[in-house]
Amino acid sequence: MEGLGEPSYRARQVFDGLYRQRWSGWERFTTLPLGLRRRLGELGFGIGLPQVEKKFVSGDGTVRYLLAYADGESVETVWMPEGDGGEAGDGSPSGDEELADKKGWHRATICISSQVGCAVDCAFCMTALLGLRRNLTAGEIVGQVLAVLGDQQADAERDRLNLVFMGQGEPFLNYDNFMQAARLLVEGVGIPESRMTVSTSGIVPRIADFGAEAIRPKLAVSLNAPNEELRTRIMPITKKWTIEKLMAALRDFPLRNRERLTFEYVLLGGVNDELKHAREVVDLMRGLRAKVNLIALNPGPEIPFAMPLDERVLAFQSVLTRAGIPAFVRRPRGRDIYAACGQLKHTTELVQFNS
Ligand code: SAH
Ligand code: SF4
Repeated sequence: MEGLGEPSYRARQVFDGLYRQRWSGWERFTTLPLGLRRRLGELGFGIGLPQVEKKFVSGDGTVRYLLAYADGESVETVWMPEGDGGEAGDGSPSGDEELADKKGWHRATICISSQVGCAVDCAFCMTALLGLRRNLTAGEIVGQVLAVLGDQQADAERDRLNLVFMGQGEPFLNYDNFMQAARLLVEGVGIPESRMTVSTSGIVPRIADFGAEAIRPKLAVSLNAPNEELRTRIMPITKKWTIEKLMAALRDFPLRNRERLTFEYVLLGGVNDELKHAREVVDLMRGLRAKVNLIALNPGPEIPFAMPLDERVLAFQSVLTRAGIPAFVRRPRGRDIYAACGQLKHTTELVQFNS
């Protein structure tokens, strides 16, 4: 604004119009003088959200959006409503029954993408099959949230929303744009940082950077295997950043009051789901304030692994809980529409799973 010869408070008005009011064209910015509105348009400053290209609705209420950007690239963003308040967050009752009656949900989580595709190449993940197509800008990341809120007629400040950076891409390999998006979501859209979680496959140098941020989401780490040999096999990135380096960085990570680290562990039938693996996980967790989310493999074409047996999942969980490590088995969301963890690969042909 100063560059345009305008007073700097105009920047605050633009910010407010974009993120709080969510005005979609300069003509709606009635807080700005008419001449400035025209000039902003003439100078080519565009306002635009990604377009909903496709929308798949699961039997469990989950919605997978295929959102397209101006250059034709698209990503997936997932809307996960909670009817009973029982799963997504901390388990505390919300007491928002009236809202639930009206909308059929009173708490929802949006899972957003940070890149188009992903370069990390985990063997169990469908996004890996896309490769990395490009980074998303901060605006494109925030745009996913605004597009979904608009489509669901939800309101970031009134409704109980959680955000997870767990869609396509490795957020810590698009670090600056991801962080800028997180700040915009906090300061512009009004979603508290305590309701956001970012998941990384373990980009070690960025973990320390992230710990030093003034505003930051909570941290989750995709562990997925308890020793170097096995993890290297299913997550080749382990060759670059070993479990040892990863755990050292996490031990140094400055947790806030009452904050815990989250570890994700995808259970692959017969590969990493044995009791001895659970015991190795217990050893790794020593000295960390952490919880573990166990995710049974979500299957997909070209994924060369099997789902774990239910009893293996429960046995794995009980090894952790008996050792005093809170461990939760995540309910798959939207598997039938390829919306669950690791299934985001622009799939438009849907098949029926028997799970
Ligand atoms: N790239 C980041 C953010 C994506 S989070 C990361 O990997 O952490 C996606 C989560 O889904 C990760 O914890 C990953 O381990 C998990 N995941 C990937 N493929 C999966 C699959 N086929 N079934 C279940 N979970 C999977
Ligand atoms: Fe990338 Fe995460 Fe999938 Fe690994 S699990 S390929 S890091 S999106």
